[in-house]
Amino acid sequence: MSSITRSAVEAMDACDPLASCRARFALPSNVVYLDGNSLGALPVGASARLSEVVEAWGRDLIRGWNRRDWIGWPKRMGDRIARLIGARAGEVIVADSTSVNVFKLLLAALDLRRGRSVILSETDNFPTDLHVAQGLVHMLDKRVGLRTVDAPALPGALGRDVAVLMLTHVNYRTGGMHDMAALTAAAHDAGALALWDLSHSAGAMPLALDEAGVDLAVGGGYKFLNGGPGAPAYVFVAERWLERIRPALSGWMGHARPFDFDTTYEPAPGIERLLVGTPPVLSLAALDAGLETFQGVDLALVRAKSLALGTLFRQLVEQECDGFGLRLVSPLDPERCGSQVCYAHAEGYAIMQALIENGVIGDFRAPNVLRFGFAPLYVRHVDVFDAVVALRSVLSTRAWDDPRFRTRALVT
Ligand SMILES: *Cc1c(COP(=O)(O)O)cnc(C)c1O
Repeated sequence: MSSITRSAVEAMDACDPLASCRARFALPSNVVYLDGNSLGALPVGASARLSEVVEAWGRDLIRGWNRRDWIGWPKRMGDRIARLIGARAGEVIVADSTSVNVFKLLLAALDLRRGRSVILSETDNFPTDLHVAQGLVHMLDKRVGLRTVDAPALPGALGRDVAVLMLTHVNYRTGGMHDMAALTAAAHDAGALALWDLSHSAGAMPLALDEAGVDLAVGGGYKFLNGGPGAPAYVFVAERWLERIRPALSGWMGHARPFDFDTTYEPAPGIERLLVGTPPVLSLAALDAGLETFQGVDLALVRAKSLALGTLFRQLVEQECDGFGLRLVSPLDPERCGSQVCYAHAEGYAIMQALIENGVIGDFRAPNVLRFGFAPLYVRHVDVFDAVVALRSVLSTRAWDDPRFRTRALVT
């Protein structure tokens, strides 16, 4: 195969239908950012949006809840997210964190499937999802069990005791992607519900939750949705469950009429019942700016570009970095992978730190994985090229072999 040159890669950018979306972000000029799967870039509109809301807070004070409809934002933003995940308006609401939403939906699923006691998940699921399940098992004093198996064993582990199959669509460490429709159907055949964590897929590809028959889902606002550090998350509940789902975290904002100050809980008729407390208006303003970056964007093009960037990265790593001990841990078939490509290396942490010092930001996931994420709205093909050139340089000069790159920071 003839080698891929930078000018060939520039030509790919020249015919990229999403190229203009990059202008929706305020990115530092001296950085190649390949970590939008962990924290999305700053939308150009975010700071004005935040200032506007801060000013409204000063001017309108408590009147802002009605005048600015702050109270309606979780639902309104949920409706915007619905389009991104293949859900109907009214099935999604913005609330809390992904972890808290996993807690809410797991308990609700166990309630909807009384008589069944098992939460089935994957050994390699994202830790917080498993931690939340473990917390429930502890609190419910073994009336509920968590069963984890490796991905290929999932269908076989769907016994008649399983209440809910809880999975993350795209694996955070490998990028490996489940067949959401097939596993949801398998869960249903076994009489279980399907709960999906969309953290690493929403905003990076079209999703079809309703078409796949998904019952419940959660996802976050700060990764591909560009909602800012610690942005609020969202909850999806399929329409057919909305009237029946009974939240265990039944707070006043999920009440049918919060301002009746009724002391007896009565769930709101729709998705609002998944709310717990008062919405974080400032954080919602930033999330709104993040969602704005998807305005008019065709998610099929997003997926196509994600695949193109990932494939280019793989080819270039093969071309430039052969013999340095990188081992691909993502699926060989890019179609079975989310919007990231990951390699294992015994010195992965130090290599990533050296790379970051050289202006290419990816991240590291224990024990040994270098993770490169491709946010198709703002990553260019030339960024991928420049990243691999920098990676090659770090590897060939052993720039990573320095004690200062071995001190682990709290966030990796
Ligand atoms: C990032 C991520 C989370 C994060 O949850 P928070 O409550 O926002 O900290 C949860 N699940 C998955 C699969 C993730 O990738």
